[in-house]
Amino acid sequence: MKRLLVLGLSLLLGSGIAAFAVEVTAVSGSKVEIFSRGDLVDVLALLQVAGVKVGFSAASGSYVASTESHEVHFTPGGSLAVVDGELVSLPGPVRQLENHVVATVETAAAILKPLGFRLVGNARALSLLVAGQVPVLEASVLASGEAATLLLSGLPEKPRVVPEADGFRVVFSQPVQLASSPSGAGVFSGVQVQEKELRFFLASPWQLASSELLENPLRLSVRVVRQAATLAKPQARTQPLVVLDPGHGGEDEGAKGQGGLVEKNLTLVLSRLLAAQLQKAGVAVRLTREGDEAMALADRVALANRLQADCFVSIHANASPARGARGAETYFMSAEATDAEAAQAAARENAAAGDVQLILWELAHVANMEASSRLALELQTRLNQLSGIRDRGVKQAPFAVLTGTTMPAVLVEVGFLSNPEEEVRLSSPAEQERLAATLAEGILAFLRSRPAATPTP
Ligand SMILES: [Zn+2]
Repeated sequence: MKRLLVLGLSLLLGSGIAAFAVEVTAVSGSKVEIFSRGDLVDVLALLQVAGVKVGFSAASGSYVASTESHEVHFTPGGSLAVVDGELVSLPGPVRQLENHVVATVETAAAILKPLGFRLVGNARALSLLVAGQVPVLEASVLASGEAATLLLSGLPEKPRVVPEADGFRVVFSQPVQLASSPSGAGVFSGVQVQEKELRFFLASPWQLASSELLENPLRLSVRVVRQAATLAKPQARTQPLVVLDPGHGGEDEGAKGQGGLVEKNLTLVLSRLLAAQLQKAGVAVRLTREGDEAMALADRVALANRLQADCFVSIHANASPARGARGAETYFMSAEATDAEAAQAAARENAAAGDVQLILWELAHVANMEASSRLALELQTRLNQLSGIRDRGVKQAPFAVLTGTTMPAVLVEVGFLSNPEEEVRLSSPAEQERLAATLAEGILAFLRSRPAATPTP
């Protein structure tokens, strides 16, 4: 509170506005000073700034403000006006003060309104706007596990983001409107439009993390995260923890081979084998799903984040229209796909993400890019050795399941179910065992290569 007062004072002192004057921002954006006293402002000067023609009828003692299509008569000393021939009452009287015709901001606004102008602000700072030209902003929310991003577009100017105990305010120097309240997976509990401010209320576990202005076009990206206090802080671990994510599950079967091998089943089998291998090496493992159940991508990420896993490995099997396509591929999260094939793979795996808007991918804050790429490389090098294939490498693509992770995260496509030969190979228990051992080696190498923040096996 103290700080606010000081700020207010320095603004007053620094503004250089003469006493008994108020600064008006015209429709054009230019600023003009007009007479004011207390909460009263000069009505005739305001009409002049708006470019409205004003006449005075000596016979009736009233002023006539007119545009091409509208006319307002008002009389100093009275609280009535005639708007386009109809008698209306103003919020307060128009008065004569020294050589000026003055009224409260509210009353002045009532005179300007039928003439097509909006007057906003107070007797310290006013803005004239053409009615109906208040910028309407669009808000959308991308929620992904423990983090969510609010995107505000259609900004008329760069706003300020002010944190509040229960959310934040986005403050403009002019009035704005919001097209609709953002619906976002329970992240926001409400939004208020207060003239020049948008007040966003966050639902209880969420808090403001950061905000960022994006240019061309001007947009505001506000990142919120689940409050750390609401997360059960894991005990200091004596062993590293890996979260394995068997892709798909339940009704979402993933890719399907001609011979009947189903991706969701293969990924679960491989994840279990891999878990056993890692556990043997002293690594704790959690699977995002233990059986054949559907699980939202965001929940898979949320689990890994909540456990503060050391890495996240999502396991999948590929499908390609090119029947000859074979070999494993390892992806780490990136807004840009390495090539068209990578983009296709991401599009296919992202189908389960449903309403995720791809346009928002550019906003996905990707943590641990460098570490993720190292993990991907450890895995892919070994997978290539295993299959004797050299031409498939580490790729980057915007996989939904990798966004929002707060640890190194990769997605492995172990092979192509669309290739009959590969399907046979991937169906073999011996091959599955080899694949799991290879993945385990890669993960262990990655864990060992990290700076010694957490214990290594
Ligand atoms: Zn898949």
